[in-house]
Amino acid sequence: MNTQPNLWIVIPCYNEQEVLPLTAPLFLKELQQLIDAGKVASSSKICFINDGSTDKTWELISELAAAHEHYEGLSLSRNRGHQNALLAGLMEARKHCDACISADCDGQDDIHAISKMVDEYLAGYDVVYGVRSKRETDTAFKRMTAEGYYKVLNMLGADIIFNHADYRLLSSRALDGLAEFNEVNLFLRGLVPLVGYKSTTVTYERSERMAGTSHYPLTKMLALAFDGITSLSIKPIHVIASLGAMFSLLGFIGIIWAIVSVFTGYTMPGWASMICFICLFGGLQLLALGIIGEYIGKIYLEVKSRPRFIISERTWDKQ
Ligand code: UDP
Ligand code: MG
Repeated sequence: MNTQPNLWIVIPCYNEQEVLPLTAPLFLKELQQLIDAGKVASSSKICFINDGSTDKTWELISELAAAHEHYEGLSLSRNRGHQNALLAGLMEARKHCDACISADCDGQDDIHAISKMVDEYLAGYDVVYGVRSKRETDTAFKRMTAEGYYKVLNMLGADIIFNHADYRLLSSRALDGLAEFNEVNLFLRGLVPLVGYKSTTVTYERSERMAGTSHYPLTKMLALAFDGITSLSIKPIHVIASLGAMFSLLGFIGIIWAIVSVFTGYTMPGWASMICFICLFGGLQLLALGIIGEYIGKIYLEVKSRPRFIISERTWDKQ
């Protein structure tokens, strides 16, 4: 390797005045070690993204940036949520870096995994996923729902990495690929696998927050989970369409049964016609909804205008 890569560590922060003074020096120490070891360029940065905080987070970031050359910060005009804040940081980093690592600012993601990710990048990987080895610090409820959720997503056809959140390294060309995804409902951990390129994982232990409180209460978590499913898969629509077809068939059988019952004499007046209507319309309505859904699903995929391919290599590219 002739020159060291310029590494950017991108960290979204929302009302993190308690934890930022604790974790910022840890990130700096880790970066400094990488620079000293000659693995990354001395121009590498740690970039904090202030996601419209209402406390002193931005003041703290500004002070850090003034105090040390490796710290930088950018501030969003208002709170836009973790995924958007992270994307803002990634797209900013893309203009400057060769590789970029995204991390949370609360120290839950083991900061030492950064050097492991850089090692994998230097070994030729474009995407390095941070994967949680254990979830001991999570409650049993969170662990079960989170792990179940990854399984459901995979069943629905979304290609996502088990136990990986948003702690990962992306090379500059992977960032370029990600930039081609213009969707507004962001679920980054579902998009990165779609970008492709050579990828690997590093495992780390997830720990407790060093200070402050989580900004992901159950409601926000459910919203993110729902966004994940609806932005990655239109399989739920297929399920409705299939159910519609199944109920139509059952309805048809029900109608035959009602008519046979009339002739075998076990019915009250009006019963057969009522059953026929219920069976007919129940099945037909669901089928019609399913068919409309299929079209809406297609429209949904079209409006997202995701890139249909990303070229990784050409034989005529000079190395
Ligand atoms: N965060 C953000 N905007 C938000 C909520 C959270 O930028 O609206 C950041 C937050 O500062 C932290 C990261 O996203 O760096 C993860 O949030 P948190 O630790 O609260 O979530 P948890 O780890 O509990 O899921
Ligand atoms: Mg956290």
